Amino acid sequence: MIDINNLTKIYYMGKVEVPALRGIDLKIEQGEFVALMGPSGSGKSTLLNMIGLLDTPTSGGIVVDGIDVSSLDHNQRADFRLRKMGFVFQFFSLLMELNAIENVALPMMMDERKDDRAASLLDLVGIGERADHYPNELSGGQQQRVAIARALANEPAILLADEPTANLDTESSNQIVELFRELNRKGQTIIMVTHEPELGEKADRIIRIKDGRVVT
Ligand code: ADP
Ligand code: MG
Repeated sequence: MIDINNLTKIYYMGKVEVPALRGIDLKIEQGEFVALMGPSGSGKSTLLNMIGLLDTPTSGGIVVDGIDVSSLDHNQRADFRLRKMGFVFQFFSLLMELNAIENVALPMMMDERKDDRAASLLDLVGIGERADHYPNELSGGQQQRVAIARALANEPAILLADEPTANLDTESSNQIVELFRELNRKGQTIIMVTHEPELGEKADRIIRIKDGRVVT
């Protein structure tokens, strides 16, 4: 499903080159639940953002779902991202002035049955009864569930999560990873960046990166 070949990314800070990825080769199959682990600054977020088409590589190729994404223009990339990718971040990134169900319905602009679908997604992530609550009326774990429901809104081929449990207590963290396991059991492909070894071990496979390279 994802085929990455000799991917590099160099950031430029003025004239200083910051090599974030130094030649990544990776294959991820459909239906896999993969944990991406490595020290801070090793390139995990950079790699996840390349896979999610949030950022462009300096060189190398990424094929997602049979499409060489480097061949897409700006609009095609945006469209591909919207249709194929679901994102979950460390700081839930919910809109505070919208309640749970409105946050989930937001990416489903064109869908006439978005309210029904948003409600069933909230059920799926286990907080159907909190649909009317605003983010500041929800715990961190509950907010992250809303964010996961929103990420699933357009039935993404790939769910990408960047340290989704970094701001949660241990119990909520375990529950979120359990939720990922359950979604994966239903067929969802998931790539999760995490620092925490005991959470990484819940994935099917751990990819370790260091200094912009895959080590194991
Ligand atoms: P991780 O997620 O593993 O902590 P990142 O992918 O965020 O690591 O960062 C990898 C390297 O790239 C780090 O040295 C970081 O400082 C650098 N970096 C990341 N994003 C940028 C950016 N937008 N501009 C400049 N340097 C960046
Ligand atoms: Mg990061």
